[in-house]
Amino acid sequence: MDAWQNLLSEASAIGLELDSDALAKLKRYYALLIEGNKKANLTRITDEREAVIKHFLDSLTVLSVLPRELRERKLSFIDVGTGAGFPGIPLLIVCPNWHGVLLDATGKKVAFLAESIQALELDGLALHGRAEEVARDPAHRDRYDLAFARAVAEMSALSELCLPFVKVGGRFVAMKGSAGETELAKARKAIKILGGAGIEVHALELPEGMGERRLITVSKASATPKAYPRRTGMPNQQPLGQ
Ligand code: SAH
Repeated sequence: MDAWQNLLSEASAIGLELDSDALAKLKRYYALLIEGNKKANLTRITDEREAVIKHFLDSLTVLSVLPRELRERKLSFIDVGTGAGFPGIPLLIVCPNWHGVLLDATGKKVAFLAESIQALELDGLALHGRAEEVARDPAHRDRYDLAFARAVAEMSALSELCLPFVKVGGRFVAMKGSAGETELAKARKAIKILGGAGIEVHALELPEGMGERRLITVSKASATPKAYPRRTGMPNQQPLGQ
């Protein structure tokens, strides 16, 4: 089966029916990624079949752990440490009603994202900055219905970088590998301090043995205290609650 047919059938297996517009944009994004990789170091995963599963399908798995009606709703999300746009770009493609801010600390990646958002006509904003600083800006604090992050930091630090962006009543989804539960055990105290509650862990496996995943959803129950996030680097260097 061709890599993209495979994506359609694997997406369908997790309850996602991708239409032809979405498929065309995902293919276009893959082409932009391969092209962009010649100029900037965007991803190690370039083989089409592997990228389709490990980047595209993996990004879309977060939809399978959120209430289905959210997909059609007009809502906003932030993807913290989005890198080359994962999970943010595939989510903007598949949920055209969503507005997404793609935040990253690396200028070259943000430049690539800005070009891609324009080329793909997505309702997104590529933002250059560090989460520790951007989360203190009232334009971004407590503003988002959803926050996502993949492969950015351990769960405690990640919660400190992501939860301040989320509105009370919104949700944060951390995309983790098989160490998800262990990281979560060490992060529970921090999550509570940061205003998170209602934690759920969803285990899933990518097809063709491409890896185990844990999607950790955290609801934001109360405002994050003003002290957080701490200054740049602190969330990683001195994980909260440990
Ligand atoms: N989410 C992407 C990229 C992961 S690599 C993916 O899964 O493919 C981690 C990215 O997070 C890098 O691009 C790095 O620049 C960014 N990053 C790390 N710490 C950050 C911070 N505090 N604020 C903003 N971006 C950060």
